[in-house]
Amino acid sequence: MTESKPVPARTPRILVADDDPRLLESVRGLLATQGLTIDTASGGGAAIERLRNAHYDLLLLDLCMPELDGRDVLRFMRAAELETLTVVISGNSSVDDVAGALREGAHDYLKKPYQPEELLATVQNALQKKHLEDANREMRARLEKSERLHRLIVNNSPDIVFILDHDGRFRFVNSRVHELLGYTHQEVMDSTILDLIDPADHDKGEYFFQQAGRAHAHIRSIEVALKPRHAGRGPRHFELAVWPTPPGTDADTVDDRIYGTARDITDRKESEAFINFQAYHDLLTRLPNRALFRDRVDVAISQAERSAAHLAVMFIDLNRFKVINDSLGHTVGDRLLQAVAQRLQGGIRKGDTLSRFGGDEFTLLLPDLPDTGAALQVAEKILDCLSTPFHLGDHELYVGASIGIAVYPDAGRTLDALIKSADIAMYHEKKTGKNGVRLFDPAMGGGTPLRLQVEQDMRRALQREEFLILYQPQVDAASGQMIGVEALVRWDHPTRGLLGPTEFIPIAEDTRMIVELDRLTLRGAVHEVRQCQRNGMPEMRLAVNLSPVLVEREDFVETILETLKQADFPPHLLEVEITESLLMSDAHQTVEKLNALCAAGIQVAVDDFGTGYSSLGYLQKLPVHTLKIDRSFTNTICGEDEACIVNAIVSMARGLHMNIVAEGVETRLHYDYLHDLGCPVMQGFLFGQPGPLSTLLEDRTRYPGPARSRRAASVPDTP
Ligand code: C2E
Ligand code: MG
Ligand code: MG
Repeated sequence: MTESKPVPARTPRILVADDDPRLLESVRGLLATQGLTIDTASGGGAAIERLRNAHYDLLLLDLCMPELDGRDVLRFMRAAELETLTVVISGNSSVDDVAGALREGAHDYLKKPYQPEELLATVQNALQKKHLEDANREMRARLEKSERLHRLIVNNSPDIVFILDHDGRFRFVNSRVHELLGYTHQEVMDSTILDLIDPADHDKGEYFFQQAGRAHAHIRSIEVALKPRHAGRGPRHFELAVWPTPPGTDADTVDDRIYGTARDITDRKESEAFINFQAYHDLLTRLPNRALFRDRVDVAISQAERSAAHLAVMFIDLNRFKVINDSLGHTVGDRLLQAVAQRLQGGIRKGDTLSRFGGDEFTLLLPDLPDTGAALQVAEKILDCLSTPFHLGDHELYVGASIGIAVYPDAGRTLDALIKSADIAMYHEKKTGKNGVRLFDPAMGGGTPLRLQVEQDMRRALQREEFLILYQPQVDAASGQMIGVEALVRWDHPTRGLLGPTEFIPIAEDTRMIVELDRLTLRGAVHEVRQCQRNGMPEMRLAVNLSPVLVEREDFVETILETLKQADFPPHLLEVEITESLLMSDAHQTVEKLNALCAAGIQVAVDDFGTGYSSLGYLQKLPVHTLKIDRSFTNTICGEDEACIVNAIVSMARGLHMNIVAEGVETRLHYDYLHDLGCPVMQGFLFGQPGPLSTLLEDRTRYPGPARSRRAASVPDTP
């Protein structure tokens, strides 16, 4: 780049300034013989004028001219920074004048009178000098330009460009280092490259620079993290490439050893890390995904094989998640899953792996377990940590879980067997409809239909009308009269026989098939009961269970009212049974809907009361007429003083003037106890199993009344 090109040859231009016209002519004639271009000026003023308008290589200047003399012209030239060389011609001028002219910038002088050869030699000499000066200037300009270009390229390089000495100290660095890492130029020049490397990569960097310094080094590049000046920013990743400085470079001194570049690859690194993370994690909860979980279980199995230890795989399926997701939207659903994941994660040990298996299903691996009991304890802890509500915005949300546990080796020796067993156990637990834990038992075995099968069967069943309705009497405790019935759905499965709702309702809710099923049941029950009323049956209340999935639909109220209208069913005889948790999860909308039903005369009952988390005080504010005490509380009645929860519920509900129906009344003891408490309505096997409506109507006078009733004596203590 820096080699000089010859200055292109062109005819030099010469200006001759003299007030003597004869002299001007003779000089012009003389120089013309040399092929030179000559202009003339007949005085100082004319010379300045010409110099202003044209470029001259050489000026032959008479010092002594009237008006503006030679020195005035020299002063003008200096002020105008002209590069024209000047040879002064002195006639009578003194030595001082000549010396002054030389000081003023003249290059040479010639004394009048002179020989033509003398003039020619002086002119040749001056032109030679001028040519050299021009060439020099041009080369310097080209060098400067070239350097500016280099600087521009180096500083605008997307990479940090540097030169290091043998100690790794910076001898040169471009300005990129400031933009990428925040250091000032001086800070970098005062450091070594190792000072900039993130401590985590320090050893790697040190080794690299030892190697790379060698003349025949094999490695020339490395990926390292450099720490930015401001510690808060986290390291950035660079690819460093270095080479020994080639001999003969300008920058080369004894100390210089290598030059190199550092390319910022942070974005690439981050996207690589993200792709890696994504392959093995669920992005929403940031938990390991199915693939990573399977890997970990595989490793745990090999370890357990060697050490004859136990390990457990747990399947955790959230209850009610789908309802919340459908009614409050995916954003709330997503946030809830994140919150659940966080809570679960908080409750397990470091070596355990919690993963999101899909949807609202989580799996947990407990490697290295002392015994099965330990797994049960962890599961209980999980249920416990889910029992307090989640607060998301204005929502207070309850989610429970059904947990299935498979312990190696009893529940399976392979990855797939263990996961399947845990799933089967969970499915069995889910059927209860409550939150709970189930340990896999080989008796659950392969015969268990997995959810998918049930789901497929159910779609068919809806088309083929395999569902039917049974009714269970609700009895007035004082008179023993049947005052109402609860409609309970059954599935007459072609191969598995008559199935109870716990076998299929949770799946129907998960798949939203419950909407169709509940509508079907409501319509069927309303028509059937209405028909009996038409046939002379006394007025009787019909209770129908409705899933939260249905209630939370926008068209819920319309659906109910429309069904009643079609069947011409009196609204005051319908009681809809809803669950406690529905009221708790999204009170505002639900309350509006229930209010609309109340306004139409329909009654509202809270089913399975006591198993959720609602307080009576809260329920009082809601449009609820009836509380149904869950049968698990009735079950606790076995002696005089042992049923304090039932006592509390009944007495509080009575204080709030709510109807009460005690469920699961199975024995005479239950009946008497509840009757003494003042519980007005009862339902349970003591009065009859759910059955066809016609059968119930035949039996309706045979229900046991109070203990003193004679009829009661003929009824066995247990059904
Ligand atoms: P639920 O509404 O609490 O219904 C009472 C359940 O207790 C019924 O079980 C009934 O057969 C059972 N039961 C009645 N008396 C006794 C007793 O004395 N002892 C014992 N151990 N159990 C008794 P079923 O029919 O299996 O229904 C279970 C649950 O399924 C119902 O609980 C209800 O929540 C739900 N369900 C039933 N039919 C429907 C329906 O059409 N739609 C919806 N969404 N849910 C339904
Ligand atoms: Mg019910
Ligand atoms: Mg119930």
